[in-house]
Amino acid sequence: MSLAGATQDEVRRHNLAALVRFLHDHGSTSRSELVSHTGLNRSTVGGLLSDLVAADLVRETEPVGRGVGRPSYGVEPVATSAYVLAIDLRVDRTIAAIVGFGGEVLERREHRYRPGQQRETRIVAQLVDVCHELLRAAPRDAVMVGVGVGVPGLVRQPDGLVRFAPNLGWVDVPLGEHLAGALGLSVPVVVGNDSDLGAIAERLRGSAVGAANVIYLSGQVGVGGGIVVDGSLMMGAQGYAGEVGHMRVNPRGRACRCGAIGCWETEIGEPALRLATHTPASMPVAEIVARAGAGDKVAARGLRTVGEWLGVGVVNLVNILNPDVVVFGGTLREILPAAREYVEAALSSALRAPGEHVVLALPALGDDSTLLGAAESAFAPLLDDPLGVIAAGRGRAGRGVASGSR
Ligand SMILES: [Zn+2]
Repeated sequence: MSLAGATQDEVRRHNLAALVRFLHDHGSTSRSELVSHTGLNRSTVGGLLSDLVAADLVRETEPVGRGVGRPSYGVEPVATSAYVLAIDLRVDRTIAAIVGFGGEVLERREHRYRPGQQRETRIVAQLVDVCHELLRAAPRDAVMVGVGVGVPGLVRQPDGLVRFAPNLGWVDVPLGEHLAGALGLSVPVVVGNDSDLGAIAERLRGSAVGAANVIYLSGQVGVGGGIVVDGSLMMGAQGYAGEVGHMRVNPRGRACRCGAIGCWETEIGEPALRLATHTPASMPVAEIVARAGAGDKVAARGLRTVGEWLGVGVVNLVNILNPDVVVFGGTLREILPAAREYVEAALSSALRAPGEHVVLALPALGDDSTLLGAAESAFAPLLDDPLGVIAAGRGRAGRGVASGSR
């Protein structure tokens, strides 16, 4: 942001946003770290911090001794001051959480669907129930900032229309609108692609911290990709970039839910793993991997087949995008440790330079990458204008308008 010609209020808001962003991303810190991070002088940082303390967004803690010189006061975000509702909508279940300022999960719920109950109206009704339950458990007097939702499909940006979610059977679903209407909330509802959100969270708090070029793969029934290039999420013209699961890798392969033949997800998605290992849908992927490890030949051969196909796609992505890290999320999180040797063997056939550089990683956020990424997308207004959003939130609560806080 250029501050040339900005008013004093705009400069102050910009500086507050920088402090709040740093605290949200890094957690507990000290005044002197904030001074060196923002480049502002000590008394300016002190003044801004007292405004944030007065708004209950941050609290000061005991001085942090740093060898010689004056000790610096500690500063930390107050997780219960402001929160978002985060939702990871999957093909077989919904995971929803209250996430506090600073990224801490305060409440979490998981709700599985019965097979064949993924119709939009049913899922929205279930989501609304889960959200109400979570809102009742939200911290008292906290300001609700927004709702973030991750969806396994093509999501148009910036309006969040779910254009196509093949494994849910959804076409052109205005999920955000439906959810906002049903919840009666006056805060933004942001809908994004599940893998894009996973990439954001792993880069912010997970196994790709500090990496400028990241591919987050999310394997479920389908396979999605969130791609960060030179520090920015790759969106494409309308927000649909990164659908790596629909790379054509096997022209003589199986039909995909998207209508094409031989997409990557038809070789490495969960149904492909079950076909290859002759296991029923009721058996957890972790158990298939455990069986292979215990000497079950059918399971081991199936994992090898899936691992080799996994390698085919990863090599193409590494050659095209030269990532620092590829993060294997969803079911791939369980498959990678068992199939790593096949993926690495395939990588040795990648172009040598990018193949040597890339790290194959498991998500440090475990199963919560998309959930936490959805939270990040919902926190954006607070990180942009902290005191404005807090004042507006408390204003709504004071007028008794549904704001999510009690
Ligand atoms: Zn496809």
